[in-house]
Amino acid sequence: MPERHCIALIAHDQKKDELAEFAGRHAEVLARFRIIATGTTGGRVAEACPGLDVVRMKSGPLGGDQQIGAMIATGEVQMLIFFVDPLTAMPHDVDVKALMRLAIVYDIPMALNLATAEILMTAKKN
Ligand code: PGA
Repeated sequence: MPERHCIALIAHDQKKDELAEFAGRHAEVLARFRIIATGTTGGRVAEACPGLDVVRMKSGPLGGDQQIGAMIATGEVQMLIFFVDPLTAMPHDVDVKALMRLAIVYDIPMALNLATAEILMTAKKN
């Protein structure tokens, strides 16, 4: 059996409820992936989807975004859903930009908001 693709899930604090709700609704599609997440986000997703195995990296501000960026660079992560808070200044803004940059460099599907994430899930349903 081919190895499952890996999806990375991240949400800034103001977007964590939205991502937890999203993950709960799409648990069936997400179950087809290996799931990794930044620390706090991963806890929320695991809570919302008790059946899913979520591997948690460090928290975003403590290096989790960079860990996931490195995994994109090595080909271990093939899709990124990152619910960004556009209204709050982040201490780790440079890490966030670096992560997005690598997703572009390696041309993986990247959803930065709910509307796009819904389209990715629809695309992966079939
Ligand atoms: P967190 O990190 O899931 O650990 O909160 C996300 C972020 O702020 O980048």
